Amino acid sequence: MKALDDLLTQETFSDADIVRLLGLTDPADCKRLRRAAYDLTTRLIGDLVHYRGIIEFSNRCTLNCRYCGIRRDNRDLERYDLSREEIIESAIWAAENHYGSVCLQAGERRDEPFIALVEDCIREIRARTVSDTLPEGASITLSLGEQSPETYRRWREAGGKTECMRYLLRMETSNPELFAWLHPDGFAHEKAYESRIQALADLRAAGFQVGTGGMIGLPGQTLADLCADIRFYQRLDADMLGMGPYILSGGGDLLDAGMMESGPLLQLALNMLAVCRLVLRDVNIAAATALQALAEDGREQGIAHGCNIIMPNITPRPVRKRYQLYDNKPCIDEEPTDCRACLEGRIQRMGRRVGWNQWGCSRHFRRR
Ligand code: SAM
Repeated sequence: MKALDDLLTQETFSDADIVRLLGLTDPADCKRLRRAAYDLTTRLIGDLVHYRGIIEFSNRCTLNCRYCGIRRDNRDLERYDLSREEIIESAIWAAENHYGSVCLQAGERRDEPFIALVEDCIREIRARTVSDTLPEGASITLSLGEQSPETYRRWREAGGKTECMRYLLRMETSNPELFAWLHPDGFAHEKAYESRIQALADLRAAGFQVGTGGMIGLPGQTLADLCADIRFYQRLDADMLGMGPYILSGGGDLLDAGMMESGPLLQLALNMLAVCRLVLRDVNIAAATALQALAEDGREQGIAHGCNIIMPNITPRPVRKRYQLYDNKPCIDEEPTDCRACLEGRIQRMGRRVGWNQWGCSRHFRRR
């Protein structure tokens, strides 16, 4: 077997290499993997970590994804919608606080009022976040699920410049059987898996920077599945990745399906982030908030393993607890200002700086 240090300096990896790295558990080996991912990030991307202030503007959802606390059939949840002004004001707050970028996320809907609201908010946010410190306004990531090619085109065009519009649509898992089990009634369910892949292609055709990713530690998921996920991201030529551990949700429909212990789950998630950095090299990788549900410093650990994006929650506090995708979701009680203040010090302690007032484009996208 190859020495681990030789393996970690390779530029291309076999499936067997990837599975071996994902499965590391010895603390000294895990540390070497972490170091390799962190150093490669510094070399290819630099020492800046970029913020995407996430605005969770509605928990209404037409889908019933089994893992998710805001799924349609969870009746124990009070549903909410932020108003147009609340969404725009949150984005303006972010820009005034030097975030270069915001992310609009919600449950999945395809009705025209929803589509038009998003289109309008994109236009307003782009226009009203222009300032001396952010002369081109904030960039916007959308995380609004599968939509028609026409909707993607409308939203992309509402943003103006190509580089400022990103879209995060997780594949969740590239294993078709697992995907089908997790999504009992996706749009056109019998084709749900293909339809997710088509949506990712439609996003690319519409001109977005395309982000995808998946959950790590899903019931029944194997290391070979995670390796297949990485190959999927490679084939898609993803510009960015948003991946995190699967966390049990009381509002979901997987209570009896089993769940990894939090220690091994956190290590597996961190290994996955690090291996993605080594294999996919110059893509943007977000340290998911779900990491913090497993360890108080979960997102910092993500940065230590090659992440270069953090998504502080800037949703107005009164509605935050109702966007409970999974149990123990962090930062529910903090104000946006608290999130901002506590994070910067944590990032600096990881040897990184915050890229204030910058869009933080994916190097991979730029290079294309
Ligand atoms: N509806 C949009 C979509 O599906 O892309 C955006 C909102 S959806 C709630 C955002 C992400 O939350 C999903 O892609 C999923 O990976 C993640 N998520 C949902 N439930 C989760 C859980 N129990 N543990 C970890 N992540 C979860």
